[in-house]
Amino acid sequence: MVDNSVYMKKVQDEADKLLPELKKAKDEIGLNPELGSEEEKSSALLVEILRGHGFEVEYPFFGMHTAFKAVRKGKESGPVIAICAEYDALPGIGHGCGHNIIGTAGVGAGIAVSKLLDELPGEVWVIGTPAEEGHGPHGGSKVRMAAQGVFEGVDVSYMVHPMTGTSMVTGNFLAVTGITLEFKGKTAHAAADAHNGQNALNAAVLTYMAIHANRQQLKRDANAVVHGIITEGGLANNIIPDKAVLRFGVRSSDDTYIPHLIEMVVNSAKGAALATSCELEYTVSAGLKSNLQNDGLEKLFIKTFEALDHEYVDPVAVAKMPPGGSTDFADVTHVVAAIHPMIGLGHKGVAMHSKDFADVSMTPEGDKGLEVGVKALAMASVELLTNPETLAAIKAEFESRRLN
Ligand SMILES: [Zn+2]
Ligand SMILES: [Zn+2]
Repeated sequence: MVDNSVYMKKVQDEADKLLPELKKAKDEIGLNPELGSEEEKSSALLVEILRGHGFEVEYPFFGMHTAFKAVRKGKESGPVIAICAEYDALPGIGHGCGHNIIGTAGVGAGIAVSKLLDELPGEVWVIGTPAEEGHGPHGGSKVRMAAQGVFEGVDVSYMVHPMTGTSMVTGNFLAVTGITLEFKGKTAHAAADAHNGQNALNAAVLTYMAIHANRQQLKRDANAVVHGIITEGGLANNIIPDKAVLRFGVRSSDDTYIPHLIEMVVNSAKGAALATSCELEYTVSAGLKSNLQNDGLEKLFIKTFEALDHEYVDPVAVAKMPPGGSTDFADVTHVVAAIHPMIGLGHKGVAMHSKDFADVSMTPEGDKGLEVGVKALAMASVELLTNPETLAAIKAEFESRRLN
């Protein structure tokens, strides 16, 4: 056993010193929400803070103008910890997913740990990862970062995400893929000349209903979710619509079930196109994976939550819950030992992805969530930088799960 209690105390003291600066940044990003791939001010603010505390920052990074990679090296080579930061908002809702807390917690944890690196070996990185919510050209940036070597040389990666209710050290995330369906028909006067039209909106509505008709036949143990909207369906009610567009998401806890769900959605659209004499064009996005678990990292965050006297849901109970959302961080869990703890802000009953949750991120509970996030990430990092046994076990578990 390594006694790292001095460093644990020190990193929490450093976190406390940083909290006023971090809280200000969290609120500033919260009040000025920027959509994914457009997070210019938010990324610039986080980079400014990191540079102010002596980090070497590459910005822009990875060919994305709102991505960054901040590095602070220790007294000698050792474990490399990569903390991910997100800072994108939702259209029409602002920070309804609380990414203003994620970005500032990740940056704060990196800085708190960096203050110990004159005495410790290793490196801490803070990677700014744009557009987690999928908006714009950098949508799901961690998928490409994970696939294209950004995490090469990293021993462990993590981030924290706020939620309503009570914290969870881990969770199950669904694989997800997006499908855009576009129907082309022919305009005509809706009354006088309707027989000369080809109604693209009818194709869209039939597609929507055909997908509903398929739900009963979905595999129940695959946690399949199919959700969609019609984004275009005509311009005036006296014109037969010649264009209609649907956007669907298909999710499952079983990555191998996703192709089946894509086929079901596309076949529904093909049938509707045939029925209405419209033409169908569709695109399927690259998608996000489901996440690989790591019990060692789970235990490490339980230990930090307990040291912080922070309440969390029993992981056995969490494992029995149906998986909820998806995250591009799941792709990171396939290339490096990684974990994505959820920090509960209370306010049970408030929905995620709502304006109400954006408001929660600005309350004292939001401030507390930021503090817990910073400290949990920083203390986990201290353990990994000072205790080779903990790190080795976590890495060995990752390797064995990756092969299975
Ligand atoms: Zn979200
Ligand atoms: Zn989120």
